[in-house]
Amino acid sequence: MNLKEIGEFNLISRIAEKVRQQHSVKIGIGDDAAATEPLPGHVTLTSADMLVEGVHFDLSLCDPRTLGRKSLAVNLSDIAAMGGIPRHFLLGLAVPPQLELSFIEEYIEGLMEMADRFGVSLIGGDTCASRVGLVIAITIMGEQLPTKIVERRGARPGDLVFVTGTLGDSALGLALLRKGHRKGFLVTRHLDPKPRVCEGVALAESGLITAMIDVSDGLLADLGHILDLSGVGARLGLHHLPLSPAFAEEAGASGINDRFLYPLSGGEDYELLFTAHPSREDEIFALMTKLSCPVARIGEITAGGGLSVFKDDGTPYRITHRGYDHFGAG
Ligand code: ADP
Ligand code: MG
Repeated sequence: MNLKEIGEFNLISRIAEKVRQQHSVKIGIGDDAAATEPLPGHVTLTSADMLVEGVHFDLSLCDPRTLGRKSLAVNLSDIAAMGGIPRHFLLGLAVPPQLELSFIEEYIEGLMEMADRFGVSLIGGDTCASRVGLVIAITIMGEQLPTKIVERRGARPGDLVFVTGTLGDSALGLALLRKGHRKGFLVTRHLDPKPRVCEGVALAESGLITAMIDVSDGLLADLGHILDLSGVGARLGLHHLPLSPAFAEEAGASGINDRFLYPLSGGEDYELLFTAHPSREDEIFALMTKLSCPVARIGEITAGGGLSVFKDDGTPYRITHRGYDHFGAG
């Protein structure tokens, strides 16, 4: 059965059946608007992300359940990057009429799996037909005390630069997918990212950090956003970039020309990149150890001079490609 046969309203009912709501939802799917109850004293953080077939995903390279998880994960990551507690989300779907119902059902199951993992509720959305490909537009709302929110603009000269997890896995995973690989650590890092929600909230609530962003467009591009908005520069050490064992092994085996291109400019790692005063370093490592989250110190903020990267012998590394830009700029 496809969507043309079941129709818009049956599809919305099927989605609504799969939703498990938190107590904060006073009015959910089914009315003209949703009503939600905020946590006392908190403000709302809102973020939107679109995933377009042929631009962000290729249906021949991913299964619907994993796509469901990823489509929410990328939004959760944005809320995490502000230190917000994710709470509610809206789902906009433009669906090709010939798409199989089973595809959308599995997609929704994956989405709900991610929603339940982080206690967020689907409270509404919009559904229409698409004459091109599948389009998924999610708007997520999170909450945090106004004094705890971490912005991009807070980095100060002398601050240290940190990143969680490892970099470059997702971009190398995508390259492997395009070569025909379908599984393994790197491919999973690309198709099924795990947003650093608990880590983002803990960092924000600790008051230890000055600026934060999630790595979605690539380290250089995303650090560039922190630098631009904070009016500062940065120096990074190439040898400090955290690489996974799988990355090191694959990069070695496939004889890539410049393996640093992936951790520096490859996108979609969904790790957290943040800055903090040097006096906070030990507390940051202690906090991240408590959360079992690897963290690496990769450089420092400077008063000016843009963004530069240094090799371990102290010579500058030439940056050739900053990161992903949808319109091909940069
Ligand atoms: P309206 O015509 O007033 O916009 P709709 O018929 O579009 O109402 O939607 C009916 C209800 O279903 C609304 O509560 C809306 O939020 C919800 N809804 C529509 N599409 C989706 C979707 N893709 N996911 C979740 N809820 C949806
Ligand atoms: Mg509508």
